Amino acid sequence: MARVFGARCFGLCRFGQHVTRSDPMVVVAPESRIPYPRRVFCNRNLRLDRIRHVGFDMDYTLAIYEESMEHLQAEMVLERLAERYDYPRAVLEAKYQPGFAIRGLAVDMAHGNVFKMDSHRFVGRVWHGAGPLDRELRKQIYTNRKLSPADASIMMVDTLFSLPEISLYCQLVDQLHGSSASDAPHGSFERLWRDLREAMDELHRDGTLKARILADVPRYIRRDPALADTLHRFRSAGKRIFLLTNSEPHYTEAVMRFLFEGAHTAYPSWRDYFDLVITSAKKPMFFGSEEPFLEVDDQMQIASEPATQLRRGGMYVGGNFQELSRLAGLVGDDVLYVGDHIYGDILRSKRSTSWRTAMVIPELERELENTLALQPEIDELDRVEEVAFQLELDRSALARDGIRNTDLNGQLKELQQRAQALEERISHHFNPAWGQLFRDRAELSAFGAQVEDYACVYTGRVSNFRNYSPSFYFRSPRDRMSHELAR
Ligand code: IMP
Ligand code: MG
Repeated sequence: MARVFGARCFGLCRFGQHVTRSDPMVVVAPESRIPYPRRVFCNRNLRLDRIRHVGFDMDYTLAIYEESMEHLQAEMVLERLAERYDYPRAVLEAKYQPGFAIRGLAVDMAHGNVFKMDSHRFVGRVWHGAGPLDRELRKQIYTNRKLSPADASIMMVDTLFSLPEISLYCQLVDQLHGSSASDAPHGSFERLWRDLREAMDELHRDGTLKARILADVPRYIRRDPALADTLHRFRSAGKRIFLLTNSEPHYTEAVMRFLFEGAHTAYPSWRDYFDLVITSAKKPMFFGSEEPFLEVDDQMQIASEPATQLRRGGMYVGGNFQELSRLAGLVGDDVLYVGDHIYGDILRSKRSTSWRTAMVIPELERELENTLALQPEIDELDRVEEVAFQLELDRSALARDGIRNTDLNGQLKELQQRAQALEERISHHFNPAWGQLFRDRAELSAFGAQVEDYACVYTGRVSNFRNYSPSFYFRSPRDRMSHELAR
């Protein structure tokens, strides 16, 4: 009989490599194991057998957008700035740089800077215009400054839809004000950000962006062939499935049709996968509002009277969490909600409800592939830091006894330089401007900390759940305090 390793995964150590497990030895062939970038990772224990309802967000959760969508957003927002916001036509020359921005960055509107924060809300790397902010200026503005979420001049960027804005903001700061932050007229960096944000917001709300996407859906949205089977497996295990999206009914209909239709013989229509479809949900307000549910009929007409029950297989707009729980019989921790937006989907549902949360992080797969590619450097950095730490302890002990060892000092300096070079090489490989998504040097990044705090489990795409049984017990890694690690 083949012995298979227990499901227990002791989680990630420093840069994501797995801690090896003790006997019994693995008998499963390596090619049968779930590839590291395709796993579901766990922050808080989650027993799928206890989950009776699985809810999905749509955009960037079920529907993953191609890079071409970011280009489209960038192109449309620049046109809008030139046509409706009185910006010079030269703004049209700004070229969107895909891959430049990452989630978790923040915009300092007062100074025209973009920066990354660590989990303690201290500022890490800072970008101004076309490059890193001058070191002196960086020191003046940010050293020892712990940012408060209440600071009105700081805007956090936490959705994938916002990445084009960040790249364009840096370019337009450069184009409109050159590299000198101090020469810009007072308030102009803030004006630029607010205009860019408002123009992008309009594009989403007035339907112009969605009209372009719907004109050529396969160009802008990736169809994951394993998605249908993933939902089918949940359904076959007796779980009820619902959709809870902020997108409007007609857009949801078109996108979901593209994603699901013809994907599984047992489901002639995409609607057959879902017990309930809620559109225009206005998350995060959905979790605290008293907005009524209005039914949407097959002709996409919205009822004028609030719904008094939620019909199985029905489609609705609006609604709220309390009413959903009451009418659909959701108890709380028997619900798993799968979404991509830390604030709209994950944080609010976690804080305002007892729903369990799964965060889809489309960036994760590349992040993990990079980790695998750089494993030798990452391991070496761990070793170098470990030795350097030990030497520092020894140096301190010698100093206590009045001994100064120059060999030890020289060795320590060398190790520190080596660690710095490795750190730079690793982080440049992930993203030349910002480094790793989940880390800010030795700390978690603000984004990484939010994922850890609010997502019970997280993964790169919904169909990764297909690798796990619908009654799988996800177990969180054992947390260790500093004194448990260092000897
Ligand atoms: P969900 O992720 O399925 O809940 O849907 C997200 C919805 O929010 C999509 O319809 C997006 O077009 C929309 N959206 C994203 N960013 C913005 C924005 O800045 N303003 C207004 N709507 C937005
Ligand atoms: Mg979403």
